[in-house]
Amino acid sequence: MIDFRQKLAEREARHLYRRRRTSDGPQGPLQQIDGREFLSFCSNDYLGLANHPEIVAAFKHGVDSYGVGSGAAHLVNGHSRAHQALEEELAAFTQRPRALLFSTGYMANLGTVAALVGAGDALFEDRLNHASLLDAGLLSRARLSRYDHGDVASVQNKLSDSSAAQKLIVTDGLFSMDGDIAPLPELAAAARRHDAMLMVDDAHAFGVLGPQGRGSCAHFALGSEAVPVLMATLGKGVGTFGAFVAGSEELIEWLIQTARPYIFTTATPPAIAEATRASLRIIQTDEWRREKLQTLIRRFREGAAQLGLPLMTSETPIQPLLVGTAADAVAMSQRLEGQGILISAIRPPTVPEGTARLRITLSAAHSEGQVDRLLAALESACA
Ligand SMILES: *Cc1c(COP(=O)(O)O)cnc(C)c1O
Repeated sequence: MIDFRQKLAEREARHLYRRRRTSDGPQGPLQQIDGREFLSFCSNDYLGLANHPEIVAAFKHGVDSYGVGSGAAHLVNGHSRAHQALEEELAAFTQRPRALLFSTGYMANLGTVAALVGAGDALFEDRLNHASLLDAGLLSRARLSRYDHGDVASVQNKLSDSSAAQKLIVTDGLFSMDGDIAPLPELAAAARRHDAMLMVDDAHAFGVLGPQGRGSCAHFALGSEAVPVLMATLGKGVGTFGAFVAGSEELIEWLIQTARPYIFTTATPPAIAEATRASLRIIQTDEWRREKLQTLIRRFREGAAQLGLPLMTSETPIQPLLVGTAADAVAMSQRLEGQGILISAIRPPTVPEGTARLRITLSAAHSEGQVDRLLAALESACA
């Protein structure tokens, strides 16, 4: 029998216990949590779209047209006109022949990796890839090797040593806990040289980086030849829910036939797809949201540098402060909470041992004054 009590107590003692907060009301810089108002810097709603009035209206209109539940999986009768239209718009937006919706990013990764490689194949992953990509590797039964973070020489060596029939390189486009961008042009060149396929998980860059927010591949002007498998989520910068994979006609048909987390799950509500369509239009037209983010990022980094805070090398809305031990990161997060500022402490196993951090994220919905308030709170929390 598992002794849950003892196991939970152990976690608590190691400062690894995780607790949820209950928020009332929508996402936004100011959040009502357990009856108190907090200024939040931990959301992935980078563009401030999760509660945008046009997206809310599109969602409501979607419910009026389609009801709430999709009723079944896409391959049964859950694939609506709204899903179809969104897939076509995502394909156009990512400049790829086709796109396929998945219910979540976690499932998109599990399904896609396992559909592309299996026993006897080789899978190469950045050491800091998202947990869902590592789990996808285990599920696929391919031989998984993790290369050093962002290190193209490291992946080249592993590719040279491999004699597997199928080789797949998978990387986050923008790393979720570090805020740095993967060396995609070099990875694409390595993939070409070693006859490997490259897959990019753009969960954090989609809507945020590149011209019109087309993501990290567009940021480097890499099309579907260089990056044949592009995955992104819709619950972060897009502000809605779900995920998709974009690529060739044949890739998408192969996923429809074989990706089990696609086949054996209920389609997301069509109204979500309608909301996402509205969000995609806003992402393309509202250049000011990305410009505003740049202004806030600059202001935060300059202020933090003046305070001598341990910034990491990131030019993106993810601006982690390295703390070290889980205990110190939790203590610092609690001190900030005392000042009405919400930033979660990120601890192992999400990040490597000894690199616990405060993961600060900026949103286009923040004001410069709110960034200044954050800096002041950090100054006193670090003192
Ligand atoms: C959040 C995230 C996912 C999972 O996406 P969900 O839609 O939340 O399941 C996958 N990959 C990365 C890099 C992520 O940050």
